[in-house]
Amino acid sequence: MSELDMTAIEMPANDLAAGIDAWRDRARGWLGSVAGRFGREARHGLSVEDDLALGRHYLAARFDAGFAGINWPAEFGGQGLSHLHKMVFETEEMALGMPSGYFGISLGMPVPILMRHGEDRAFVKERVLRALRGEEIWCQLFSEPAGGSDLAGLRTRAEVDGNGWRLNGQKLWTSWAQYCDYGVIVVRTDPTVPKHKGLTYFWVDMKAPGVTVRPIKLAGGDSHVNEVFFDDVRLEDSQRMSPVGGGFGVAMTTLMIERYIATDSGGFGPHLDLFVDTARETEVNGRPAIEDGRVRSAIARNHAMRAGLDAITTRAMRMMQAGMEPGPEGSLNKLVSVRSRQRLSELALDLMGPAGLAFDPHAHAKEDWAASWINAPTGRIAGGADEMLLNTIAERILGLPQDYRPDKGVPFNQIPA
Ligand SMILES: Cc1cc2nc3c(=O)[nH]c(=O)nc-3n(C[C@H](O)[C@H](O)[C@H](O)COP(=O)(O)OP(=O)(O)OC[C@H]3O[C@@H](n4cnc5c(N)ncnc54)[C@H](O)[C@@H]3O)c2cc1C
Repeated sequence: MSELDMTAIEMPANDLAAGIDAWRDRARGWLGSVAGRFGREARHGLSVEDDLALGRHYLAARFDAGFAGINWPAEFGGQGLSHLHKMVFETEEMALGMPSGYFGISLGMPVPILMRHGEDRAFVKERVLRALRGEEIWCQLFSEPAGGSDLAGLRTRAEVDGNGWRLNGQKLWTSWAQYCDYGVIVVRTDPTVPKHKGLTYFWVDMKAPGVTVRPIKLAGGDSHVNEVFFDDVRLEDSQRMSPVGGGFGVAMTTLMIERYIATDSGGFGPHLDLFVDTARETEVNGRPAIEDGRVRSAIARNHAMRAGLDAITTRAMRMMQAGMEPGPEGSLNKLVSVRSRQRLSELALDLMGPAGLAFDPHAHAKEDWAASWINAPTGRIAGGADEMLLNTIAERILGLPQDYRPDKGVPFNQIPA
């Protein structure tokens, strides 16, 4: 297995600090020049298929402009810059609503892991370049009906079959699987040892015989998550990306690889200014809602909360700028921001009355209260459910004792189903 740490490209702190403002200006300049072609307004009303096609063109343009694989090695088409450069670019990109979301998981986790652990280096290089240009997409096949928060509880299995493996089982909630060419997958290869020790990590061809993808319709109307079934799917041993029984460690690396992603203290929902506008335009008891004490206190609370989260993010970015590693603040940011986005969206809908119920499935969660409210629950589950984030905060920030784990050390096949 090849070892390559593409998240740890180091730069002297002073050079980094000096270069970051110039980098932001360069990113803004290029993004501004293509916003009319690819930005939020250009995308409004497009079907998912057309938006994805636009996204592929955007990725090719981003690659050609030198903004792809920002913190990846040049050998893989990257720019060899720091993680901070990447975060700065993504923050600017997010503000303009560019169609990069379809590729976020692919380039965020599976492809970096492939770069580290893929065995056939020529194959890996071709896949990485095609993924960076938006020509191929990878998904992450971790969660399944019995393995979400408790990933090590998963049941999809691979059994030895000649010089390869035979894969059977079901994954669930796989984002964008219906458009994916490849995926990374964790499966059980030994049920007789404790649950974390019997897992192995592979890559899988999503077009292989025996792979069935079924989209799931979410409350907001979109179907970006899927059930994925594997019926006697053949895997070559060269598709293995961990030692046999060593898959949990690689899965944890996958989840940790992009610990610091571009965050949004609005929980990826509307800006607080939009709430102030809504409060100006609506009434409570015949008076403008903005004059109501409860509404004013919600605005003040949100403003203070967002300022606090922005301060935490700034501190994390400064730590990175100084060459240090920030702690698990990302958990705090996601927990607090998405929960309060949901509450604020609910209050906005209450103020709007029946008008708030007019739901436009093409509306964006950052600009529309109904879209924000209806999609908020998925934000509270994906990437770590609220309770799991609370556990992380309790254990890793507050130093409290670990959660009770009754199945620790018990062979997987002796844990009651
Ligand atoms: C929009 C969306 C996209 C997703 N995309 C992907 C993807 O691309 N790939 C992928 O692999 N997965 C994906 N997921 C799955 C996601 O990672 C899981 O849904 C998540 O980890 C929760 O797992 P679960 O759904 O099995 O819920 P469970 O783990 O069954 O949790 C149910 C409830 O129990 C709580 N709970 C569980 N354990 C504990 C505990 N120890 N203490 C306290 N409370 C607990 C949880 O917080 C939650 O409220 C996605 C999910 C969503 C919603």
